Amino acid sequence: MSWSEVGAGVFVRRYAELDLSVGLVVGGESALVIDTRGDHQQGVELARAVRQVTALPWQVAITHGHFDHCFGTDAFLPAHVWAHERCPAHLARTAAGQRDHWVAHYRQEGADDIAAALAASAPAMPDHLVSARADLDLGGRTVQLRHLGLGHTDHDLVVAVPDAGVVFAGDLVEQGAPPDFEDAYPQHWPSTVDALLALGPTTIVAGHGTPVDPDFVRTQRAELAELARIGHALRGGALSLDQAVERSPFPAATTLTALARLR
Ligand SMILES: [Zn+2]
Repeated sequence: MSWSEVGAGVFVRRYAELDLSVGLVVGGESALVIDTRGDHQQGVELARAVRQVTALPWQVAITHGHFDHCFGTDAFLPAHVWAHERCPAHLARTAAGQRDHWVAHYRQEGADDIAAALAASAPAMPDHLVSARADLDLGGRTVQLRHLGLGHTDHDLVVAVPDAGVVFAGDLVEQGAPPDFEDAYPQHWPSTVDALLALGPTTIVAGHGTPVDPDFVRTQRAELAELARIGHALRGGALSLDQAVERSPFPAATTLTALARLR
């Protein structure tokens, strides 16, 4: 496992587990860690890895409250933990359920070590909340924390690093697998991606998979828009459920989850 530098002082670290990507932005005076992995042990691993890059004090930004992005936050405390203002409520409502679901998943996979670590993990609550935008001065460079609208969840936060042309998109962009609609707002997601593209990034770091370029995001945006149109037609009775699944740009299971969120 190693960091790759996608812009000056802007790093991505990818993990085989869930193909997760986390980020690190190093300024002149402090660093920003973007997402903290999925359990307390994974968080400790990430914190050590950050310390191999920089000794500067850190802050944490959580892209959204899904366990794989934030159950490792404890390892970074004390620190400012930034998130969208709806993230704490999401965690309060869903953390125990997420943990139960994924502990069972990992046990079933035979990944007993991950299951045990996750069973003993709870997400630290974000304490620095963003409604639409916050700018963080890291010393010599400013990063923007932006909520661009409903999408993968109701509280997605992206981290823009304008001086490097990089945007950390969280799961608003997904590479290597279909987008996840479990908590999504399929009818709003395309315009939120438009707002992300309007930030003008040259590199977009997806929450899972490899970093991508704007063309990749435009293609995914078109697929999300097509799915929203299909959902509209289904609701209006112009398509049957079978036809909707057939026409969807996404696999059947993904499509059915998304369509359920459109009703
Ligand atoms: Zn997610």
